[in-house]
Amino acid sequence: MTPHGAGEEADAAVVGGGLVGACIAWGLARQGQRVVVLDEGDMAVRASRGNFALVWVQGKGLGLPPYSRWTLASSEAWPTLQAELAEETGETVCFERPGGFHVCLSENEMAARAALLARFHAQPGVAGYRTEMLDRTQLGRYLPHLGPRVAGASYSPVDGHVNSLRLFRALHKAFERRRVSYRPSHAVRGIEQRAGGFTIATTAGPVRAAKVVLAAGNANATLAPMVGLTAPMKPERGQIIVTERVRPFLRYPLSTVRQTDEGTVMIGDSREEGTDPALMNRPINSVMAARAVEIFPMLGALQVVRSWRAIRVMPADGFPIYDQSLACPGAFLATCHSGVTLAAAHAYRLAPMIARGQLDAEEVGAFSARRFDVQTQ
Ligand SMILES: Cc1cc2nc3c(=O)[nH]c(=O)nc-3n(C[C@H](O)[C@H](O)[C@H](O)COP(=O)(O)OP(=O)(O)OC[C@H]3O[C@@H](n4cnc5c(N)ncnc54)[C@H](O)[C@@H]3O)c2cc1C
Repeated sequence: MTPHGAGEEADAAVVGGGLVGACIAWGLARQGQRVVVLDEGDMAVRASRGNFALVWVQGKGLGLPPYSRWTLASSEAWPTLQAELAEETGETVCFERPGGFHVCLSENEMAARAALLARFHAQPGVAGYRTEMLDRTQLGRYLPHLGPRVAGASYSPVDGHVNSLRLFRALHKAFERRRVSYRPSHAVRGIEQRAGGFTIATTAGPVRAAKVVLAAGNANATLAPMVGLTAPMKPERGQIIVTERVRPFLRYPLSTVRQTDEGTVMIGDSREEGTDPALMNRPINSVMAARAVEIFPMLGALQVVRSWRAIRVMPADGFPIYDQSLACPGAFLATCHSGVTLAAAHAYRLAPMIARGQLDAEEVGAFSARRFDVQTQ
């Protein structure tokens, strides 16, 4: 265990107790670090509670090949994450990796998808996994019940899904085992570096820690300058529809439809600019539902039992931001979309780097927010 400096109650304070902060906190605790997690109240807007729960790899990293490798590595480490959490907490998070499909409803969509994946695979340094385009007949072998308009799909064996609420619960349960001190109602308002450590002003009083990790989702945009960093964010709203439970009919996750371990069917992939979580865009739900029914007409007979909107944590260019501060050594930042997919990378790869006090430039250097400085020059 790292010795504490004078007056420090933790080796690391993680700001934000969503999935990203929770995975890093747990990963730091696995390294023997004493960790406090400073979080807002339970009414906070959390992407971690409103997501679609895919562990999705296919096509991610177009424009930034290191992201494809990072995503694949996380997906490959997911079975270990699931097993370790189960052993530690008794919780199963229902991770499965049967492969996933992106379904196309016309030949034009098929051509566009094939072209996108061809561009993806042609990038130097891109992750080497298999994707293929399947025509309707080939697809029917995996997915019965297809509607007549389905033209085909792209497929990759590396995609999967999970129960992300169970994941969230398992991580918080694991905090107890690892003695991570989770502190709700500790919204961070200021951070100062003093005498080699950090004094973090929260709504419930100050906290001292040797290191600080900003993992507060979109709020990182405001917190980052407190430690000499930047995090350009562009939050997006996403909506999800959930049907009543039905007997298992869909073994594979689709990018827009999946059957959960509980039997409900989740529909959703919307993206809109804007951060008002109170505003439900009903026409978007209609489009999502109509498309899902085109794929599986049987869904048209099901009752919708829930629908919600959530704010996607979204860096301005869509790729993760991982950084460490030069101005305030010991301050780190992690923010990304796809925090479910990247859970294992955060716990097993990013957290150990933070524990050592140094991000590995080879592995995560491409994700520094310095890339935005280059883009605007
Ligand atoms: C509709 C939708 C669908 C999605 N689908 C998928 C998917 O299929 N697969 C996938 O991998 N990802 C998906 N995501 C993305 C995924 O949910 C997020 O990447 C992930 O939840 C982000 O976690 P986070 O911890 O960064 O953010 P959040 O869950 O938003 O948590 C941030 C935390 O920081 C806290 N906080 C904020 N400000 C402060 C402060 N000043 N002081 C202290 N604490 C603070 C908040 O209270 C909150 O607890 C989806 C997201 C949405 C919205």
